[in-house]
Parts: sequence; C-alpha cells; structure tokens
Amino acid sequence: MVPLRGGIFRLPAAGEEAALIGSRCPDCGKYFFPRRHVCLNCSRQGLDEVPLSRRGKVWTFTVARQTPPASLTQAPYAIGYVDLPEGVRVETILTGDPEAVHIGMDVEFVLEKVGTSADGADMMAFKFRPV
Ligand SMILES: [Zn+2]
Repeated sequence: MVPLRGGIFRLPAAGEEAALIGSRCPDCGKYFFPRRHVCLNCSRQGLDEVPLSRRGKVWTFTVARQTPPASLTQAPYAIGYVDLPEGVRVETILTGDPEAVHIGMDVEFVLEKVGTSADGADMMAFKFRPV
C-alpha cells in the first residue's frame, strides 16, 4: 500500500488508523492542513506534525457531472470541503451518492485504492464518506 501523494496522510500501521497529517503550532495552538513549516497566525517556525481527526462536517460541495481527462474518479461525484474539529478545512472527494450530500453532513476520512504502482502495490488516495 502506497499513498498516491506523499506527506498528505499516514497509512494504517501498528494499530494506528490512517489519518490526514496536519501541522500544529506549539506556541499558539493553531492547526494547518496541508502541513506547513511556518505558522500563519504567529510566524513561529518549526510546527509539530500531528494526525488530524477522522470525522468532520461538509462545509460546501458541488457535483462534478463530467469526468476530466486522466481523472481517477468517474463522474458523477461530489467534491467539496470538510471542516475538521481542529479548525482546518480539507478539499476532498465525497464518496457515495452525490445527490445525497448536504451541507453540514457528518463525514469520515477513508482511504480508497485508485490504482496500482509500477511494483504492484495498491495506490491509495483519501476521500470522505458519509458517517
Ligand atoms: Zn502559531
């Protein structure tokens, strides 16, 4: 199992669940996703790398009705932003029936296989699904 893009999420391992990887400022406590080196709130350099909550709420979304060239996802699908309890907003594909998605809906982080690497490993991408 390998991530489609490195540094975005951790794979499940040693009893730990997969999770998005964010940054937390040790001075002011603000969280960021994707990871950052410098805090946008207080300019501190050297933020802590932390796993983010797996559950959140849909902030807004739209439904893609055409599949872009070379896309790994077939239309129709919902794509939107999910707010996590840490105060970060994550752009993501929302799995399941796109017509059932609504603003404020509870969703959870999930990994999905989106392909196979040259050496035969499952390539994984993150999405959010209805809880
Ligand atoms: Zn800070």
